[in-house]
Amino acid sequence: MDLIRFNSPYVVGPEFDYMREAAADGHLSGDGQFTKRCHKMLEQKVGVDKALLTTSCTHALEMSALLLDLQPGDEVIVPSFTFVSTINAFVLFGAKPVFADIREDTLNIDERTLESLITPRTRAVVVVHYAGVGCEMDAIMDIARRHNIVVIEDNAHGLFATYKGRNLGTFGVMATQSFHETKNIQCGEGGALLINDTNFIERAEIIREKGTNRSRFFRGQVDKYTWVDVGSSYLPSELNAAFLCAQLEASDDIQAMRQRVWHYYSQNLQDWAADNEVRMPIVPPYCEQSYHMFYLLLPTLEHRTAFIDHLSDHKIKAVFHYLPLNASQKGQEMGGEPGQCPVTERVSDQLVRLPFYNTLDATTQDRIIECIQQFKVS
Ligand SMILES: *Cc1c(COP(=O)(O)O)cnc(C)c1O
Repeated sequence: MDLIRFNSPYVVGPEFDYMREAAADGHLSGDGQFTKRCHKMLEQKVGVDKALLTTSCTHALEMSALLLDLQPGDEVIVPSFTFVSTINAFVLFGAKPVFADIREDTLNIDERTLESLITPRTRAVVVVHYAGVGCEMDAIMDIARRHNIVVIEDNAHGLFATYKGRNLGTFGVMATQSFHETKNIQCGEGGALLINDTNFIERAEIIREKGTNRSRFFRGQVDKYTWVDVGSSYLPSELNAAFLCAQLEASDDIQAMRQRVWHYYSQNLQDWAADNEVRMPIVPPYCEQSYHMFYLLLPTLEHRTAFIDHLSDHKIKAVFHYLPLNASQKGQEMGGEPGQCPVTERVSDQLVRLPFYNTLDATTQDRIIECIQQFKVS
Protein backbone atom coordinates (compact mmCIF):
# COMPACT_ATOMS: atom_id res chain seq x y z
CA MET A 1 0.00 0.00 0.00
CA ASP A 2 1.26 3.47 -0.90
CA LEU A 3 1.91 6.06 1.74
CA ILE A 4 -0.85 8.66 1.89
CA ARG A 5 0.93 11.95 2.33
CA PHE A 6 -0.30 14.77 4.51
CA ASN A 7 0.16 17.36 1.76
CA SER A 8 0.84 17.21 -1.94
CA PRO A 9 1.55 20.51 -3.73
CA TYR A 10 -0.76 20.95 -6.70
CA VAL A 11 0.20 22.11 -10.18
CA VAL A 12 -2.67 23.48 -12.27
CA GLY A 13 -0.92 23.22 -15.67
CA PRO A 14 0.04 26.63 -17.12
CA GLU A 15 2.67 27.34 -14.41
CA PHE A 16 5.65 26.25 -16.52
CA ASP A 17 4.46 28.00 -19.69
CA TYR A 18 4.20 31.20 -17.69
CA MET A 19 7.68 30.70 -16.24
CA ARG A 20 9.06 30.13 -19.73
CA GLU A 21 7.26 33.27 -20.89
CA ALA A 22 8.85 35.27 -18.07
CA ALA A 23 12.28 34.00 -19.08
CA ALA A 24 11.62 34.79 -22.75
CA ASP A 25 10.63 38.34 -21.76
CA GLY A 26 14.06 38.75 -20.22
CA HIS A 27 12.56 39.97 -16.94
CA LEU A 28 13.09 37.55 -14.06
CA SER A 29 13.60 39.89 -11.13
CA GLY A 30 10.56 41.22 -9.29
CA ASP A 31 7.61 43.38 -10.34
CA GLY A 32 7.33 42.26 -13.98
CA GLN A 33 4.12 41.43 -15.84
CA PHE A 34 3.29 38.30 -13.79
CA THR A 35 3.71 40.08 -10.46
CA LYS A 36 1.38 42.81 -11.77
CA ARG A 37 -1.18 40.21 -12.86
CA CYS A 38 -1.05 38.60 -9.41
CA HIS A 39 -1.50 41.99 -7.73
CA LYS A 40 -4.52 42.76 -9.86
CA MET A 41 -6.14 39.37 -9.24
CA LEU A 42 -5.63 39.63 -5.48
CA GLU A 43 -6.96 43.20 -5.43
CA GLN A 44 -10.05 42.22 -7.44
CA LYS A 45 -10.78 38.81 -5.91
CA VAL A 46 -10.29 39.89 -2.29
CA GLY A 47 -11.36 43.50 -2.68
CA VAL A 48 -8.40 45.38 -1.21
CA ASP A 49 -6.89 48.73 -2.17
CA LYS A 50 -3.43 47.32 -2.77
CA ALA A 51 -1.79 43.89 -2.94
CA LEU A 52 1.98 43.48 -2.93
CA LEU A 53 3.58 40.08 -3.48
CA THR A 54 6.27 39.21 -0.97
CA THR A 55 8.74 36.37 -0.58
CA SER A 56 6.64 34.87 2.26
CA CYS A 57 3.83 35.56 4.70
CA THR A 58 6.53 35.98 7.35
CA HIS A 59 8.01 38.81 5.28
CA ALA A 60 4.60 40.39 4.74
CA LEU A 61 4.18 40.36 8.53
CA GLU A 62 7.62 41.98 8.90
CA MET A 63 6.56 44.68 6.46
CA SER A 64 3.45 45.35 8.50
CA ALA A 65 5.60 45.59 11.65
CA LEU A 66 7.88 48.14 9.94
CA LEU A 67 4.84 50.10 8.74
CA LEU A 68 3.60 50.39 12.33
CA ASP A 69 6.85 52.11 13.38
CA LEU A 70 6.98 50.14 16.62
CA GLN A 71 8.76 51.73 19.57
CA PRO A 72 10.53 49.68 22.26
CA GLY A 73 7.95 48.51 24.77
CA ASP A 74 5.04 48.61 22.34
CA GLU A 75 2.79 45.61 22.81
CA VAL A 76 1.26 43.41 20.15
CA ILE A 77 -1.52 40.97 21.04
CA VAL A 78 -1.59 37.60 19.26
CA PRO A 79 -3.40 34.33 19.78
CA SER A 80 -1.13 31.81 21.47
CA PHE A 81 -2.36 29.16 19.02
CA THR A 82 -0.63 30.24 15.82
CA PHE A 83 2.52 29.89 13.76
CA VAL A 84 5.67 31.48 15.20
CA SER A 85 5.88 34.15 12.46
CA THR A 86 2.59 35.76 13.52
CA ILE A 87 4.43 37.25 16.50
CA ASN A 88 8.12 36.81 15.68
CA ALA A 89 7.83 39.36 12.86
CA PHE A 90 6.81 42.00 15.42
CA VAL A 91 9.25 40.93 18.14
CA LEU A 92 12.03 41.28 15.54
CA PHE A 93 11.28 45.03 15.43
CA GLY A 94 11.04 45.52 19.17
CA ALA A 95 7.49 44.58 20.13
CA LYS A 96 6.55 42.84 23.35
CA PRO A 97 4.22 39.91 22.65
CA VAL A 98 0.99 39.56 24.62
CA PHE A 99 -0.59 36.13 24.30
CA ALA A 100 -4.36 35.74 24.02
CA ASP A 101 -6.21 32.48 24.48
CA ILE A 102 -8.55 31.06 21.83
CA ARG A 103 -12.26 30.22 21.62
CA GLU A 104 -13.30 26.60 22.23
CA ASP A 105 -15.39 26.47 19.04
CA THR A 106 -13.46 28.07 16.15
CA LEU A 107 -10.02 27.99 17.86
CA ASN A 108 -9.69 31.68 16.94
CA ILE A 109 -8.51 34.44 19.27
CA ASP A 110 -11.05 34.82 22.08
CA GLU A 111 -12.36 38.33 21.57
CA ARG A 112 -14.03 38.21 25.01
CA THR A 113 -10.57 38.31 26.67
CA LEU A 114 -9.16 40.95 24.34
CA GLU A 115 -10.07 44.04 26.32
CA SER A 116 -8.42 42.69 29.48
CA LEU A 117 -5.11 42.40 27.57
CA ILE A 118 -5.06 45.97 26.28
CA THR A 119 -2.74 48.45 28.02
CA PRO A 120 -1.66 52.02 27.13
CA ARG A 121 1.28 50.39 25.26
CA THR A 122 -0.87 48.17 23.02
CA ARG A 123 -0.35 49.06 19.36
CA ALA A 124 -1.89 46.19 17.45
CA VAL A 125 -3.78 42.95 17.60
CA VAL A 126 -2.84 40.36 15.00
CA VAL A 127 -5.72 37.99 14.40
CA VAL A 128 -5.40 34.58 12.71
CA HIS A 129 -8.41 33.06 10.97
CA TYR A 130 -7.62 29.50 12.01
CA ALA A 131 -8.38 26.90 9.34
CA GLY A 132 -9.81 29.74 7.26
CA VAL A 133 -12.80 30.31 9.55
CA GLY A 134 -13.27 33.99 10.34
CA CYS A 135 -12.56 35.43 13.80
CA GLU A 136 -15.35 37.39 15.51
CA MET A 137 -14.51 40.48 13.48
CA ASP A 138 -17.50 42.65 14.53
CA ALA A 139 -16.45 42.52 18.18
CA ILE A 140 -12.71 42.73 17.42
CA MET A 141 -13.04 45.78 15.14
CA ASP A 142 -15.26 47.50 17.69
CA ILE A 143 -12.76 46.95 20.53
CA ALA A 144 -9.85 48.08 18.33
CA ARG A 145 -11.69 51.27 17.33
CA ARG A 146 -12.55 52.14 20.93
CA HIS A 147 -8.96 51.62 22.12
CA ASN A 148 -7.30 53.14 19.05
CA ILE A 149 -5.27 50.06 18.16
CA VAL A 150 -4.81 48.61 14.70
CA VAL A 151 -5.91 45.19 13.55
CA ILE A 152 -3.69 43.13 11.28
CA GLU A 153 -5.04 39.90 9.81
CA ASP A 154 -2.64 36.98 9.44
CA ASN A 155 -4.82 35.49 6.71
CA ALA A 156 -2.45 32.66 5.72
CA HIS A 157 -5.31 30.14 6.05
CA GLY A 158 -8.23 32.31 5.02
CA LEU A 159 -7.80 33.45 1.41
CA PHE A 160 -11.26 33.65 -0.24
CA ALA A 161 -13.15 32.98 3.00
CA THR A 162 -15.80 35.40 4.26
CA TYR A 163 -17.20 36.64 7.58
CA LYS A 164 -20.82 37.85 7.35
CA GLY A 165 -20.44 38.12 3.59
CA ARG A 166 -17.25 40.15 3.67
CA ASN A 167 -13.87 38.78 2.54
CA LEU A 168 -11.27 37.98 5.16
CA GLY A 169 -8.28 40.21 4.54
CA THR A 170 -10.45 43.34 4.17
CA PHE A 171 -11.04 44.04 7.88
CA GLY A 172 -7.60 45.00 9.22
CA VAL A 173 -5.49 47.95 8.08
CA MET A 174 -3.35 45.23 6.55
CA ALA A 175 -3.58 41.50 5.98
CA THR A 176 -0.95 38.95 5.08
CA GLN A 177 -1.19 35.88 2.83
CA SER A 178 1.04 32.85 2.44
CA PHE A 179 1.69 30.97 -0.78
CA HIS A 180 3.83 28.31 0.89
CA GLU A 181 3.35 24.88 -0.67
CA THR A 182 1.08 23.82 2.20
CA LYS A 183 -1.45 26.60 1.54
CA ASN A 184 -4.50 26.55 -0.79
CA ILE A 185 -2.82 28.67 -3.46
CA GLN A 186 0.93 28.16 -3.64
CA CYS A 187 4.22 28.81 -5.41
CA GLY A 188 6.53 26.89 -3.08
CA GLU A 189 7.47 29.90 -0.96
CA GLY A 190 5.64 33.18 -1.31
CA GLY A 191 3.29 35.65 0.27
CA ALA A 192 1.47 38.94 -0.07
CA LEU A 193 0.73 42.05 1.92
CA LEU A 194 -2.82 43.33 1.43
CA ILE A 195 -3.39 46.98 2.33
CA ASN A 196 -6.77 48.46 3.24
CA ASP A 197 -5.57 51.88 4.40
CA THR A 198 -4.23 53.84 1.43
CA ASN A 199 -1.96 55.87 3.75
CA PHE A 200 0.31 52.84 4.04
CA ILE A 201 0.74 52.13 0.32
CA GLU A 202 3.62 54.42 -0.63
CA ARG A 203 5.74 53.49 2.39
CA ALA A 204 4.96 49.78 1.88
CA GLU A 205 6.35 50.00 -1.66
CA ILE A 206 9.50 51.67 -0.31
CA ILE A 207 10.02 49.12 2.49
CA ARG A 208 9.56 46.28 -0.01
CA GLU A 209 12.18 47.80 -2.36
CA LYS A 210 15.13 48.02 0.08
CA GLY A 211 14.09 51.42 1.41
CA THR A 212 14.21 53.06 -2.03
CA ASN A 213 11.57 54.92 -4.02
CA ARG A 214 12.15 52.65 -6.99
CA SER A 215 8.41 51.97 -7.52
CA ARG A 216 7.76 55.70 -7.99
CA PHE A 217 10.75 55.88 -10.35
CA PHE A 218 9.32 53.09 -12.53
CA ARG A 219 5.99 54.91 -12.66
CA GLY A 220 7.79 58.05 -13.82
CA GLN A 221 6.83 59.97 -10.68
CA VAL A 222 10.46 60.79 -9.79
CA ASP A 223 13.42 61.09 -12.18
CA LYS A 224 15.90 59.06 -10.11
CA TYR A 225 15.55 56.61 -7.30
CA THR A 226 17.37 56.78 -4.02
CA TRP A 227 17.45 55.63 -0.41
CA VAL A 228 14.51 57.25 1.39
CA ASP A 229 13.61 54.98 4.34
CA VAL A 230 14.41 51.68 6.04
CA GLY A 231 13.46 48.58 4.15
CA SER A 232 14.55 45.20 2.90
CA SER A 233 14.21 42.96 -0.13
CA TYR A 234 10.69 41.58 0.14
CA LEU A 235 9.70 41.16 -3.51
CA PRO A 236 9.69 37.74 -5.16
CA SER A 237 11.21 36.79 -8.50
CA GLU A 238 9.02 36.74 -11.62
CA LEU A 239 9.54 32.95 -11.77
CA ASN A 240 7.58 32.59 -8.52
CA ALA A 241 5.01 35.17 -9.61
CA ALA A 242 4.52 33.33 -12.93
CA PHE A 243 3.86 30.06 -11.08
CA LEU A 244 1.53 31.83 -8.66
CA CYS A 245 -0.33 33.54 -11.49
CA ALA A 246 -1.51 30.19 -12.86
CA GLN A 247 -2.68 29.17 -9.38
CA LEU A 248 -4.61 32.40 -8.76
CA GLU A 249 -6.29 32.14 -12.16
CA ALA A 250 -7.53 28.67 -11.16
CA SER A 251 -8.59 29.68 -7.65
CA ASP A 252 -12.29 28.83 -8.15
CA ASP A 253 -11.45 25.30 -9.29
CA ILE A 254 -8.92 24.84 -6.49
CA GLN A 255 -11.41 25.98 -3.87
CA ALA A 256 -14.07 23.63 -5.29
CA MET A 257 -11.67 20.67 -5.09
CA ARG A 258 -10.87 21.46 -1.47
CA GLN A 259 -14.52 21.96 -0.60
CA ARG A 260 -15.28 18.44 -1.83
CA VAL A 261 -12.45 16.92 0.20
CA TRP A 262 -13.58 18.75 3.34
CA HIS A 263 -17.25 17.74 3.07
CA TYR A 264 -16.38 14.13 2.31
CA TYR A 265 -14.47 13.90 5.59
CA SER A 266 -17.16 15.79 7.46
CA GLN A 267 -20.05 13.61 6.25
CA ASN A 268 -18.29 10.29 6.61
CA LEU A 269 -16.68 10.85 10.00
CA GLN A 270 -19.68 12.34 11.79
CA ASP A 271 -21.05 9.11 13.32
CA TRP A 272 -17.62 7.81 14.31
CA ALA A 273 -16.79 11.16 15.95
CA ALA A 274 -20.06 11.19 17.91
CA ASP A 275 -19.46 7.61 19.16
CA ASN A 276 -15.88 8.36 20.21
CA GLU A 277 -16.04 11.76 21.92
CA VAL A 278 -14.13 13.29 19.03
CA ARG A 279 -14.87 16.92 18.21
CA MET A 280 -15.28 17.89 14.55
CA PRO A 281 -14.55 21.40 13.18
CA ILE A 282 -17.14 24.07 14.03
CA VAL A 283 -17.93 26.66 11.36
CA PRO A 284 -20.41 29.39 12.42
CA PRO A 285 -23.26 29.83 9.91
CA TYR A 286 -22.13 33.39 9.08
CA CYS A 287 -18.62 32.22 8.15
CA GLU A 288 -17.86 30.82 4.72
CA GLN A 289 -14.60 28.98 5.27
CA SER A 290 -11.65 28.58 2.89
CA TYR A 291 -11.33 24.77 3.19
CA HIS A 292 -7.72 25.08 4.25
CA MET A 293 -7.59 21.98 6.47
CA PHE A 294 -9.59 19.27 8.19
CA TYR A 295 -8.87 18.73 11.86
CA LEU A 296 -10.22 16.55 14.68
CA LEU A 297 -9.97 17.04 18.44
CA LEU A 298 -9.30 13.77 20.29
CA PRO A 299 -10.29 13.61 23.98
CA THR A 300 -6.69 13.62 25.33
CA LEU A 301 -3.04 13.79 24.28
CA GLU A 302 -2.75 10.01 24.84
CA HIS A 303 -5.66 9.39 22.46
CA ARG A 304 -4.17 11.79 19.92
CA THR A 305 -0.78 10.06 20.04
CA ALA A 306 -2.42 6.62 19.66
CA PHE A 307 -4.55 7.93 16.78
CA ILE A 308 -1.55 9.32 14.85
CA ASP A 309 0.34 6.04 15.48
CA HIS A 310 -2.65 3.98 14.30
CA LEU A 311 -2.83 5.94 11.03
CA SER A 312 0.95 5.77 10.65
CA ASP A 313 0.81 1.96 11.02
CA HIS A 314 -1.52 2.02 8.02
CA LYS A 315 0.80 4.33 6.07
CA ILE A 316 -1.34 7.42 6.50
CA LYS A 317 0.35 10.64 7.54
CA ALA A 318 -1.65 12.75 10.00
CA VAL A 319 -0.01 15.57 11.95
CA PHE A 320 -0.58 17.76 14.98
CA HIS A 321 -0.32 21.53 14.80
CA TYR A 322 0.81 24.59 16.78
CA LEU A 323 2.42 24.39 20.20
CA PRO A 324 1.27 27.15 22.60
CA LEU A 325 3.48 30.21 22.04
CA ASN A 326 3.04 31.39 25.64
CA ALA A 327 4.73 28.20 26.89
CA SER A 328 7.49 28.09 24.25
CA GLN A 329 11.10 28.83 25.15
CA LYS A 330 11.15 32.24 23.43
CA GLY A 331 7.57 33.01 24.52
CA GLN A 332 8.53 32.51 28.17
CA GLU A 333 11.65 34.66 27.71
CA MET A 334 9.30 37.39 26.46
CA GLY A 335 6.97 37.17 29.46
CA GLY A 336 4.69 34.27 28.57
CA GLU A 337 3.84 31.68 31.20
CA PRO A 338 2.66 28.08 30.96
CA GLY A 339 -0.96 27.86 32.09
CA GLN A 340 -1.77 31.33 30.81
CA CYS A 341 -3.81 30.12 27.81
CA PRO A 342 -5.63 27.00 28.99
CA VAL A 343 -7.77 26.44 25.87
CA THR A 344 -4.74 26.77 23.57
CA GLU A 345 -2.74 24.41 25.76
CA ARG A 346 -5.49 21.77 25.77
CA VAL A 347 -6.34 22.06 22.05
CA SER A 348 -2.66 21.87 21.14
CA ASP A 349 -2.58 18.40 22.76
CA GLN A 350 -5.83 17.22 21.21
CA LEU A 351 -5.74 18.44 17.62
CA VAL A 352 -4.81 16.30 14.64
CA ARG A 353 -4.94 17.29 10.96
CA LEU A 354 -5.91 14.70 8.36
CA PRO A 355 -4.27 14.42 4.93
CA PHE A 356 -5.65 17.29 2.89
CA TYR A 357 -4.76 18.38 -0.64
CA ASN A 358 -6.54 19.35 -3.84
CA THR A 359 -6.16 16.01 -5.64
CA LEU A 360 -7.05 13.78 -2.69
CA ASP A 361 -9.62 11.51 -4.36
CA ALA A 362 -12.60 9.72 -2.83
CA THR A 363 -10.97 6.27 -3.08
CA THR A 364 -7.95 7.44 -1.09
CA GLN A 365 -10.21 9.25 1.34
CA ASP A 366 -12.23 6.05 1.82
CA ARG A 367 -9.04 4.26 2.88
CA ILE A 368 -8.32 7.03 5.42
CA ILE A 369 -11.91 7.07 6.70
CA GLU A 370 -12.06 3.26 7.09
CA CYS A 371 -8.80 3.31 8.98
CA ILE A 372 -10.11 6.06 11.28
CA GLN A 373 -13.31 4.11 11.91
CA GLN A 374 -11.25 1.18 13.23
CA PHE A 375 -9.87 3.46 15.93
CA LYS A 376 -12.00 3.37 19.08
CA VAL A 377 -11.62 5.83 21.92
CA SER A 378 -11.92 3.88 25.16
C1 LIG B 1 1.98 29.34 6.94
C2 LIG B 1 1.71 30.40 7.95
C3 LIG B 1 2.57 31.48 8.13
C4 LIG B 1 3.92 31.58 7.46
O1 LIG B 1 3.85 31.62 6.11
P1 LIG B 1 5.21 31.67 5.25
O2 LIG B 1 4.71 32.06 3.90
O3 LIG B 1 5.79 30.29 5.29
O4 LIG B 1 6.09 32.68 5.86
C5 LIG B 1 2.21 32.48 9.01
N1 LIG B 1 1.07 32.42 9.70
C6 LIG B 1 0.22 31.38 9.57
C7 LIG B 1 -1.05 31.37 10.36
C8 LIG B 1 0.53 30.32 8.71
O5 LIG B 1 -0.30 29.28 8.61
